[in-house]
Amino acid sequence: MGPKKDFKVSIVGGGIGGLVLAVGLARRGIEVNIFEQAKKFEETGAGVGVGPNAVKVLQDFGILDEIVKVVNQPLNTRTFVFISGLPGHETIYEYPGLESDIGLGVHRTQFLDTVVKLLPPGIAHFNKKCVSVEEGPESVNIHFEDGIQHTSDIVIGCDGIRSVIRRAVLGRVVVAKFTGTVAFRGLIPVDSAIEALGPRIAVKPHVFVGPDRHLTVYPLQGQPIVNAGVFITDRSKPWDEQGPQPGESWVLPATQEEMLGYFEGWGPRITKLLSFITKPNKWFLHALSPPLETYVKGRIALLGDAAHSMLPHLGAGAGQAMEDGYVFSALLSHPAVNKNNLKDVLKAYDNVRRPRANRVLEGSSNAGEIYELAGPSGSNLHEVRNDLTGNWDFVWHHDLDQDVRTAFSILGFEGKEES
Ligand SMILES: Cc1cc2nc3c(=O)[nH]c(=O)nc-3n(C[C@H](O)[C@H](O)[C@H](O)COP(=O)(O)OP(=O)(O)OC[C@H]3O[C@@H](n4cnc5c(N)ncnc54)[C@H](O)[C@@H]3O)c2cc1C
Repeated sequence: MGPKKDFKVSIVGGGIGGLVLAVGLARRGIEVNIFEQAKKFEETGAGVGVGPNAVKVLQDFGILDEIVKVVNQPLNTRTFVFISGLPGHETIYEYPGLESDIGLGVHRTQFLDTVVKLLPPGIAHFNKKCVSVEEGPESVNIHFEDGIQHTSDIVIGCDGIRSVIRRAVLGRVVVAKFTGTVAFRGLIPVDSAIEALGPRIAVKPHVFVGPDRHLTVYPLQGQPIVNAGVFITDRSKPWDEQGPQPGESWVLPATQEEMLGYFEGWGPRITKLLSFITKPNKWFLHALSPPLETYVKGRIALLGDAAHSMLPHLGAGAGQAMEDGYVFSALLSHPAVNKNNLKDVLKAYDNVRRPRANRVLEGSSNAGEIYELAGPSGSNLHEVRNDLTGNWDFVWHHDLDQDVRTAFSILGFEGKEES
């Protein structure tokens, strides 16, 4: 069977966002090509948390069942317990969650490999570093570093936090800013995590809160490993006066002593846990600030970190990329969409996705402030409990299908049959 549509989609960038989108579009019979600068699809060696909102996307795209097979473990409700990181380790708040709040904590490589297996053959192109895109009246030309060009009806820039496509959409260079927060990431054998945290804490998602620092720990499904994210924020200087200069790396090798030095005076569970992260890297976390004023221009759109790079404090960046992909695939596969109305479709995507993802972006910064006792209630732990109440509700319980319906109505598609 040939493609269902008279247009072709090009995706630039094969991270979680681009790959999930490619699977979603291909399942709906849309012709798609994906161009990746690296020689293969790759992810960092860390875990990724996927909230209930994004799990629904994975389910719809046929990805969830494959992941469940790979991790070989039933999925369960995924809520966090907040504990003080300081001596005494007082429990502050247990996020209640709903029974339907099914989430995933999974190794990124395992996740990516599972998604890649679902790509139709021949659509992935490697060593294809996009250097620019240029829109013509009826198509877009993608220029690659190797001198080759590719022409497409629309281009979706899934090229991450340092996106090249962003420049074409905004008409100027917009770079993500250093947020003042550095992170160390570690995968810790579950037995070691139990030794540090005890059997109850090590097997359930937890956030350790404290002044200007916090840690998140959660077990990876189907693996005897606990993922640890260690965050340190310097609030004494403005963002612009810290962090890497243009051209410098955003990830540097670090020592365990440096990492431990940030946690002097913290409780014994934390120092023990950190002793199991032996060769840490230090990540300078960047985010788009202020959020972008548009995600699209003509036939070119942004998705994922290219559109809304955010701090990881709601575990939501990849999830927002998946939501983008869900809306895109629902819109592009509507029977009324064809070569002639693609620009309107992109505008409708921007209309529903931008407010939503930008709100999650801003919420992610706010969440970090609360975890590090710099939020509205400062270090008053009883008040902090109130700040944490409902922390994830707006992320996890969003009605994505309503967004799709809104976009259809913007496009004047009411009453027409959906595919
Ligand atoms: C410490 C930390 C923890 C996090 N934890 C979570 C979490 O638990 N849950 C969650 O949802 N999110 C989390 N995130 C955020 C999440 O990792 C990102 O939002 C997500 O990976 C972004 O995916 P993406 O596909 O948009 O971009 P990327 O993963 O950056 O992929 C971009 C791809 O494009 C390619 N590319 C770039 N430029 C070009 C070019 N010019 N031409 C061709 N290809 C190009 C790159 O090689 C790459 O493959 C976390 C982030 C951090 C830093």
